[in-house]
Amino acid sequence: MQYLSTRGGVSPILFTEAVMMGLAEDGGLLLPRTIPRIGSETLSAWQKMSYAELAFEVMSRFVDDIPSSDLKDIINRSYTTFNAEGVTPLVHKGGLHILELFHGPTLAFKDVALQFLGNLFEYLLAKNQSVLNILGATSGDTGSAAIYGVRGKERINIFILHPHQRVSAVQEKQMTTVLDANVFNIAIRGSFDDGQTIIKKIFSDIDFKNTFNLGAINSINWARVLAQVVYYVHSCLHVAMHEKDSSVDFAIPTGNFGDIFAGIIAKKMLPAGTIRQLVLATNENDILTRFVNSGDYSLGEVKRTSSPSMDIQAASNFERYLYYLMDSDAARTKELMEEFAQNGKIDLSGYQDQIRRDFVAASISETAVAETIKSFYEEYDYILDPHTAIGVKAALQNKTVGVPMVCLATAHPAKFCKVVEDAIGTPPHIPDSLIGITDKATRCELMEADMKEIQEFVSRNALQP
Ligand SMILES: *Cc1c(COP(=O)(O)O)cnc(C)c1O
Repeated sequence: MQYLSTRGGVSPILFTEAVMMGLAEDGGLLLPRTIPRIGSETLSAWQKMSYAELAFEVMSRFVDDIPSSDLKDIINRSYTTFNAEGVTPLVHKGGLHILELFHGPTLAFKDVALQFLGNLFEYLLAKNQSVLNILGATSGDTGSAAIYGVRGKERINIFILHPHQRVSAVQEKQMTTVLDANVFNIAIRGSFDDGQTIIKKIFSDIDFKNTFNLGAINSINWARVLAQVVYYVHSCLHVAMHEKDSSVDFAIPTGNFGDIFAGIIAKKMLPAGTIRQLVLATNENDILTRFVNSGDYSLGEVKRTSSPSMDIQAASNFERYLYYLMDSDAARTKELMEEFAQNGKIDLSGYQDQIRRDFVAASISETAVAETIKSFYEEYDYILDPHTAIGVKAALQNKTVGVPMVCLATAHPAKFCKVVEDAIGTPPHIPDSLIGITDKATRCELMEADMKEIQEFVSRNALQP
């Protein structure tokens, strides 16, 4: 399988090169040249496979340059860290199938991709005899999932900035209690945006970036999308065992459009009609809902909500879908993305028919999030986290009788204890991995939001290529 950039400026590369490149060198995103098709017979033959076996079948169709036995080993190691039978189990509540993606080490769905990416990086770096210094800023969830993805790995150091005292206590402890020598937490006196700005500036210092082989943890790495395709296929197989229908709908709480884009890839891979429709659910940051409902893709102000991992305006994976919408026309995609960078908006109202064949969308208010958590708890004795509640609410609004609906549960409710407790009047069950976390030893540097100071810290502690 070869990979191309959505902006057409990268000559075809192989999977491992696409993984190491991350963002395409021309500023676009990397995509496979074609999407492999899975026939109904093959799909039936996958029915009884374990999660890891299925992951190998799905992923290997996109990978030509890693020997099968090595890829199998990487996948197996990535999913033994999950604490649930079948890795991503489905539970049946309120007429919906809830796909629990939060049984990994940091209790959020990002583990599914980042456990795999960490092992993949380690494998590729050993092969190339090189090193990687990962640098990123987090508002909470991505940082801990990335840290757990690479902790203790050879040839990788990771530096994560978070805003001092502006992430939840649990989120902070999940990051700073990781004491492995290759993990560097930096709390900055400033906001998440300050951290983001510093990271961008350091990355734009090309000499520095090359001297230290800096890498990002952004959600645009193709390997992250690929790892997420697996649980869509897995769910289709498992729902089919319970219900006779061959079509399934999915509801996806959406921020950077990575998770739902994996759904688009799964839809293209599987026999026509297997995945019928994707319900794109946003919080009050509704740019993607406006895009689906009227073709208006225009930036607004970022609002703070109870689902912080979805407090996003420009969705970093959107360009991949745009490329498909433009019928794989890279020149047109590049033009539109440049227009968006300049004006903060593009008008896609001419593409409504196509867009609506893929999605329906809903933006869910803060009040509705709290009500959904409460009513789901009271009626079905099941506790939703605020992100998952957004998907569930949008699913209930858009459910078609007779078509099974799978709702992606993207975080464990204990990660958002306060919001949940406010909604239902009692705290959620605390999983073992969080018990006693506030008493554990931590390691973290407190620094000013100063680019020079942080850059110096990184250069002192980075692995030398
Ligand atoms: C990251 C995240 C999302 C949004 O996923 P995208 O791939 O960015 O759309 C939703 N819920 C939780 C809990 C997350 O951490």
